[in-house]
Amino acid sequence: MFRQFLAQLSAKLQRFMAGRYGTDRLNMTILGAGLVACLISPFFRSAPVNLLLTAISYGFMIWAIYRSLSRNTYKRYQENRKFLQFFDRLKDRQHRYYDCPKCRQVVRVPRGKGKIAITCPKCREKFVRKT
Ligand SMILES: [Zn+2]
Repeated sequence: MFRQFLAQLSAKLQRFMAGRYGTDRLNMTILGAGLVACLISPFFRSAPVNLLLTAISYGFMIWAIYRSLSRNTYKRYQENRKFLQFFDRLKDRQHRYYDCPKCRQVVRVPRGKGKIAITCPKCREKFVRKT
């Protein structure tokens, strides 16, 4: 009886989530940040800080729910991709990343070479940056 109920519930949930985005790394991070804000808020006695943290935690959780229920899966996927890319670049201590001033192509160059002239691989634009 109970098993049947669970099976029905999961079938309903599956139908509800069909065509929706679901969850990803960005969503887990948003949820985690919301949870942290929620957990640390009781430690702040000042009312404005407390209120702000509560608002942030609710805001983040609503944002995460909105993203997972979104039907615009392409846009959500792109957000997650950008988010992961941002962290990959933070972790990359060997290289620096620059946007080409002309075509916005991202160019990766080795760090610690001083001032160098960079040629964009896409549009051949030359620009000088400190690495
Ligand atoms: Zn370019």
